[in-house]
Amino acid sequence: MAVCRYHPDRAGVGICMRCRAVICASCSTQVEGINHCFACLKALAARPVRPVSSWSPLWSAGLVLAGSWLILFVLLLLVRGSQ
Ligand SMILES: [Zn+2]
Ligand SMILES: [Zn+2]
Repeated sequence: MAVCRYHPDRAGVGICMRCRAVICASCSTQVEGINHCFACLKALAARPVRPVSSWSPLWSAGLVLAGSWLILFVLLLLVRGSQ
């Protein structure tokens, strides 16, 4: 049976999604719905709260979408103006 990486006397109930370590109930903490072990939680806490990922793909996709709508609009104006 798998035991906790940090407590060899305790049964492992989950796996850290970051380092794949088997962890017991008292070692596992859910961060954003994902299991994290004690060590990874510490590593996460050491990082700044908001990473640079505020420039998410969603944001860029929104920009591209807005840009293509603008181009469509301008094209429509051009087509209407030529008639
Ligand atoms: Zn971990
Ligand atoms: Zn443990």
